[in-house]
Amino acid sequence: MVDAKTDRLIIGAGAVGLAIARQFAMAGDQVVLIESNTSFGMETSSRNSEVIHAGIYYPADSYKAQLCVKGAHMMYAYCAAHGVKTSQLGKLIVATDHEQEARLDTLLKAGKTNNVPDLKLIGKDQIHALEPDLRAVAAIHSPFTGVVDSHNYMAALEADAENHGAIIAYQSRFIDAEKHPDGYHVRINSQGEEIIFACQTLINAAGHGAHSVSHAISDIAADTIPPHYMAKGQYFTTTRKPPFQHLIYPVPSGGGLGIHLTLDSGGGARFGPDIRWVDQPSYDVDPADADRFHQSISTYWPALQRDDLVPAWAGLRPKIWPDGSYFQDFTFHDASIHGCEGYLALYAIDSPGLTSSLAIAEYVAEKLI
Ligand SMILES: Cc1cc2nc3c(=O)[nH]c(=O)nc-3n(C[C@H](O)[C@H](O)[C@H](O)COP(=O)(O)OP(=O)(O)OC[C@H]3O[C@@H](n4cnc5c(N)ncnc54)[C@H](O)[C@@H]3O)c2cc1C
Repeated sequence: MVDAKTDRLIIGAGAVGLAIARQFAMAGDQVVLIESNTSFGMETSSRNSEVIHAGIYYPADSYKAQLCVKGAHMMYAYCAAHGVKTSQLGKLIVATDHEQEARLDTLLKAGKTNNVPDLKLIGKDQIHALEPDLRAVAAIHSPFTGVVDSHNYMAALEADAENHGAIIAYQSRFIDAEKHPDGYHVRINSQGEEIIFACQTLINAAGHGAHSVSHAISDIAADTIPPHYMAKGQYFTTTRKPPFQHLIYPVPSGGGLGIHLTLDSGGGARFGPDIRWVDQPSYDVDPADADRFHQSISTYWPALQRDDLVPAWAGLRPKIWPDGSYFQDFTFHDASIHGCEGYLALYAIDSPGLTSSLAIAEYVAEKLI
């Protein structure tokens, strides 16, 4: 027995699910977006650096390269049109020794291949002119990089989707779904009540929940679903006012971007994320890790003292490989992989998923139409 019908049912109201809901609602489709939490963006989408990445790091032609560069342009324009604060502060990727300096060339080439605007390599004097307190022998300057107020960005997406007729149901958890000839019958627990929704297309943007959602859909063979791993990233803040105007990143290593310094859209500073592969989800920050953070940050900001660091928060990167030895791209599974028309699952939407969210939404709509 079906209780209600819709064209598109989307699971997960993080930045990506909201952007997808907005995309379809603006195209005139009936859209229902379900989210198990009481509001949007309470998981990975509110536990990140809020950086609008320029798209430097990713292999050419990867989804990350294409959707990040496109998504960053879209995000700046969208936020300007919707009164969401962004600050295009620019970023310096700093080499603190000559071995790292050699790796900047590779990064610069990758960024240029990906069409990242205005990238350039700068030397000690130029670095000193931009950031007198920064210790570095060379750097890549990326003026296109910035930060966004991610909460207000998601609030704008939510309002936009709803203004175009989307229904967003919080405290509504996907339980399972059955494949039918004309789409899917989806069982939802909505505030304690069980509802069956019929939909033509089902879009799984459930972040860390994406794998278990796929396992609960009839006709999706378990061996088509990638494994789920988590790479935790911790943040520290500081009691000192950093003397920097730019976002400061070390040369990346081990599946993460290194312990960087970012400034939020309100001017506050935070360090992180680090990277640690975990079996159990946890958002705790280990105060003892201040030692490691201090060691890393003091390579580029020698004036920072260990006791200046204060544990802040953590996020969990969704991954489909168990460690950082492979480049892990955004992963989209449609009927060409699992054989079920009208079902699209998004896996491993880690960084730069926030930046890419509007471009991901466009890509998903193209894939399903
Ligand atoms: C430490 C860290 C730093 C990052 N820094 C940046 C950055 O600076 N810039 C950038 O661009 N990206 C960054 N990212 C990546 C970015 O945060 C993510 O790519 C993005 O938030 C993913 O959004 P999402 O909507 O896919 O997932 P999520 O935000 O996780 O949303 C998924 C939603 O699905 C819901 N859900 C799950 N299961 C169910 C179910 N059964 N029923 C109903 N709802 C369900 C969850 O409650 C959740 O709200 C970072 C990520 C991490 C972890």
